[in-house]
Amino acid sequence: MKSLTLTKEQLQKMISHVDLHAPLEACGILAGLNSKVESVLEVTNQAQSVVRFVMAPSEQLKAFEWIESNGLDLIGIFHSHPAGPETVSPTDIAEAAYEVVHVILARVEGAWRARGFWIEDGAASEVELQIV
Ligand SMILES: [Zn+2]
Repeated sequence: MKSLTLTKEQLQKMISHVDLHAPLEACGILAGLNSKVESVLEVTNQAQSVVRFVMAPSEQLKAFEWIESNGLDLIGIFHSHPAGPETVSPTDIAEAAYEVVHVILARVEGAWRARGFWIEDGAASEVELQIV
């Protein structure tokens, strides 16, 4: 996937969620079709960690079922790096379990910035986020 399209409201929903949980990492799922996000689903970070995230399995399953029953696809996973960096970490690359866009919300000098990445064969490449 070369780009991911999402609305300002969807971006704001992600930022509100991760800001609420900072300095802990927070996470969630992006449901949509093709490369367009239709819904942002918040998921609890079971790890309750400042450096990593583990999606709570029951919530993750519920989100996957919701996506399926609404005729959508899992197209992205987002999580925060409250203390940076703006890119996926080696752990993120090692633990990437789905072929989806990984959106990193990083807090840089007090402001949240979003960047997208595609992880494949142990390497990450940037995916353009188109905010509409
Ligand atoms: Zn990460």
